[in-house]
Amino acid sequence: MNNPGILKRFLDSFSFVIAPPICILCSRLIDVELDESEHICNNCLLNLPVAKSSQEILERINMNFGKENNPFDYAISLFDSGTNQEFLKIIHTLKYKKFKKIGTFLGIKLGKKIYEHLSLLEYDIDFIIPVPIHRIRLRERGFNQAEIIVDAISNVINRPVNVNLISRKLYTQSQTSLDLSERIKNVQNAFEINLDLVSLQSKNFLLVDDVITSGSTLYHCARLLKENGANKLIIAVLTTA
Ligand SMILES: [Zn+2]
Repeated sequence: MNNPGILKRFLDSFSFVIAPPICILCSRLIDVELDESEHICNNCLLNLPVAKSSQEILERINMNFGKENNPFDYAISLFDSGTNQEFLKIIHTLKYKKFKKIGTFLGIKLGKKIYEHLSLLEYDIDFIIPVPIHRIRLRERGFNQAEIIVDAISNVINRPVNVNLISRKLYTQSQTSLDLSERIKNVQNAFEINLDLVSLQSKNFLLVDDVITSGSTLYHCARLLKENGANKLIIAVLTTA
């Protein structure tokens, strides 16, 4: 038992007996041979609520910030939790239970969807940007969930990631307990842009977050890019809520 690898395997076999992998949505036992994910069963994956269209997501931004101010050209989501909040468990498990594998697994699925949509658009993506979290929150959580998703997307669509272009300078209150108007105010002026890193002129960006609700976080990041010369901006999220 001096070998740490053997010890780990020994302990893992116990953790399986104590806590066998179950689906976070329906609590069914995961079949590690058949199910695609370790955390969501195939049946639940097939029945994720249908994603909102690009137009529906963009209309949400128009409604909250005015059509003339909408910096986005297109939006892609993997599914929609809006009608059934139960599905937000997926985001919760990624963020707070720190099951990064869910982020990677769904990030790959989102990447494949982005790839399909890109073939229909007349423009391409130059950089993929994860919505940043403040360094204090990064220390608390240990990772930025948007970066996990972005890494998976980048592997699928083969475009570079830029994690330092936008940073979060204000440590803002968590959005979960806020109503719509509070959410919109909460992130105003929360971000800053590092212009030394890259010239934004005529570049197209894919901005990625785990979930879009009011759209205020994505909106404020996008405004910074747009004000500094960015061309096309696309949103990609795992879910709308
Ligand atoms: Zn399930």
